[in-house]
Amino acid sequence: MTSVRTTCAYCGVGCGIVATKTGARTATIAGDKAHPANHGKLCSKGTHLGETIGLEGRLLTPMLGNLEASWDQALTVVARQFADTIAKHGPDSVAFYVSGQLLTEDYYVANKLMKGFIGSANIDTNSRLCMASAVAAHSRAFGEDVVPACYEDLDEADLILLVGSNTAWCHPVIWQRIEAARAARGTKLVVIDPRRTETAEGAYLHIGLRPGSDIALFNGLLAHLLPGLDRAEVEQRSQVPADYWASLEGITAETTAAACDVPLATIETLFTLVAAHPRTVTAFSMGVNQSTSGTDKASAIINLHVATGRIGSPGAAPFSITGQPNAMGGREVGGLASTLAAHMGFEAENVGRVAHFWEAPQTACKPGLKAVDLFEAVHDGRIKALWVMATNPAVSMPNAGRVREALEACPFVVVSDVIADTDTGRFAHVRLPALGWGEKDGTVTNSERRISRQRAFLAPPGEAKPDWWIVAEVAKRMGFGAAFGYAGPAAIFREHAALTAFENDGARRLDLGALATLSDAEYDAMEPYRWGGDRIALAPGEARMTTVHQPALTEGMTLNSGRYRDQWHTMTRTALSPRLSQHRREPMVEVHPLDAEEAGLLAGNLASVSSAQGEALFKVALSDGQRRGELFVPMHWTDRTGRGGRTNLLPDSRVDPASGQPGFKLTAASLAKVATEWSAFLIARAVPAEPDALWWTRIRVEGGWLVEIAGNGDPAALETLLPTGDRVKVIDSARGAKRIVVSRDDRLEAALFITRDGRLPSRDWLIAQLAEPADGAPIRYLAARAPGIQVDQGETVCVCFNVGEKRIRAAIASEGLTSVAAIGASLGAGTNCGSCRPALARLLAQMELSDAA
Ligand code: SF4
Repeated sequence: MTSVRTTCAYCGVGCGIVATKTGARTATIAGDKAHPANHGKLCSKGTHLGETIGLEGRLLTPMLGNLEASWDQALTVVARQFADTIAKHGPDSVAFYVSGQLLTEDYYVANKLMKGFIGSANIDTNSRLCMASAVAAHSRAFGEDVVPACYEDLDEADLILLVGSNTAWCHPVIWQRIEAARAARGTKLVVIDPRRTETAEGAYLHIGLRPGSDIALFNGLLAHLLPGLDRAEVEQRSQVPADYWASLEGITAETTAAACDVPLATIETLFTLVAAHPRTVTAFSMGVNQSTSGTDKASAIINLHVATGRIGSPGAAPFSITGQPNAMGGREVGGLASTLAAHMGFEAENVGRVAHFWEAPQTACKPGLKAVDLFEAVHDGRIKALWVMATNPAVSMPNAGRVREALEACPFVVVSDVIADTDTGRFAHVRLPALGWGEKDGTVTNSERRISRQRAFLAPPGEAKPDWWIVAEVAKRMGFGAAFGYAGPAAIFREHAALTAFENDGARRLDLGALATLSDAEYDAMEPYRWGGDRIALAPGEARMTTVHQPALTEGMTLNSGRYRDQWHTMTRTALSPRLSQHRREPMVEVHPLDAEEAGLLAGNLASVSSAQGEALFKVALSDGQRRGELFVPMHWTDRTGRGGRTNLLPDSRVDPASGQPGFKLTAASLAKVATEWSAFLIARAVPAEPDALWWTRIRVEGGWLVEIAGNGDPAALETLLPTGDRVKVIDSARGAKRIVVSRDDRLEAALFITRDGRLPSRDWLIAQLAEPADGAPIRYLAARAPGIQVDQGETVCVCFNVGEKRIRAAIASEGLTSVAAIGASLGAGTNCGSCRPALARLLAQMELSDAA
């Protein structure tokens, strides 16, 4: 068995992984103790990557429509269509929409083709949806998109402000680092988030501010600190706009509390804490960025750090935490439509420099269309050929219904992906099979500017090819072969590194010149490398503050969206893991109990969430962590995983004017009960067809599939979903219930349970039977539980050790457990990846409270 050091496929923490192959398509996964981003730790998603590397659902052959094609045929069609479109309508009639899932080398080649040789800057990335506002704010403040912090700052801070970040779920290894700092040195944690998430549960202070009021909060903070600042000194070491100080006049703790709808005492506690702790890190992510004022929010945070000098020294920095594994690498090569390449913009000098380096006289000289505008241009016909790489905009873009209309109307759509059947792929004229994680080879950059190798340890499956190769082959067929004759990713990386250093002379901080001469062997062996040093040092007068004002906010009910702990984006990978699917099996709308009561909703009811753009259905979950009038839904579900839960049908297309990032987190919405006459579940060994019902979800479970269904009318059609085999059926007419079990050789093949009174048994025992040998008559499956005493362990909390909430509560009560560590010692929960530790802490706190009551 050989082990390969690589990096995780998911978030921007960029954890190092040791993958040890155990078979053709199997591997064990462990954290890389030598990787400085994670020192061996992994979260639940990284830990279970091994469950996602099979070939299920993979696209393994180029497809022209629904016909298999050779690579040469497919590439020739793509090249010809793009060339013809450009010849007839000009370079701006085509576009690439790419992804933070691409490796830096893939990104570089795609960017070079579009901006250098096609001569348009119409290449944008799904990173636009995740951190473009942070990019714009960095550029405003530092003249370049540089993250000034590093992970060690989290270890060394006395105070950490987490803003708009459910870190415990979305960046769990950073969360573990914060937990360690709290334990080791008493670092205080303040969570600034409208929702009381698991991240907020155990914080020193939670600021449950009104959604969108972050600028008011940070302006208030700085106004409070102003008397202790020497303005002349601030103006000496930074650039302060003429109207800046005046913009803070009249702001007090009282006005801040009112603007943020937070108790005055809470605001005063925050102000006192920040004043007392110069070593402050403010880490922010999507709650800040995904806003129509996201750039100003990030600027308000950076202003605080620049004005107080809390930047560039250990434990003091504003810190943008990125969402995707290689959003940063994309930023470095210029994968955003608003930058050219290697942190250079479209100034004539930069265009000339890049054109000279690439030997590409047609290099684009103006920014291209940002994601939302790009799809609008597809919709209105200005863009006539679109190539989507490694992303699923039919699900992930705001106002996704309109994006689907655009894709439907586009004369030519190419999709490169690892997955055969995605919502976006259904609109493609050509689908190209790309290599996936574990197969591809290149580099990624994490949130702290650290470049790491992502290495292959699996053979390329079928006809799948690296993204850089696919793009380069199209470029060759468009007549640009001389500039795209790469022997492999090492050659591309060297060229990228050389461009960052080209005519640089210290003008650009991104300078990878030291890596531009790596041999292939040195590239293969490359250790994680943080460019720009540990922290970005700012020369006197270099940092710029920006005057920012709190905009007016939406009145009425609003909708927020985000991630579940164990799922990633549109679930094309994480949903392959039965373990990861245990944590949250359905898309739920989280509602404050009083809002639910007003809407006549109970937990588990089906509800419609509507906006001006569309409607989506969710099961109801009551949560007193929600503010009144605010809803929260997950972003992950697609047409492939259910009917309902299609969150991004709801947000509108408004964007931040500086960054072009959409405001996903604040959508005017309404909530209404959806009546259903029956509900059902289907457990099956083989993947069942999609039900024809009002609402359903279909997820992987150990040994098979679980489908949850609800609808109206006669549910008899559900029986067509059952496989062939020996059937046992029981009907309870009085309760409107039906249970059907299908077995083969006395082993469970499928079970369909339907009810009209809303009562269905726990699914867990039946699911477990998919993995059990035949043992007794199949009729026993009708009971949906083991004979004798039933042990229902409740909703899974710890996916690593499969420990449920009821079991944990029972152990806390019977064994007198008083700490997360004690629960771990008793049940194992929380002792592997640690992703569930906040949930364990919450259960302990809840039980302490109920004991005290
Ligand atoms: Fe992967 Fe989790 Fe690390 Fe993110 S925190 S890189 S998802 S292991």
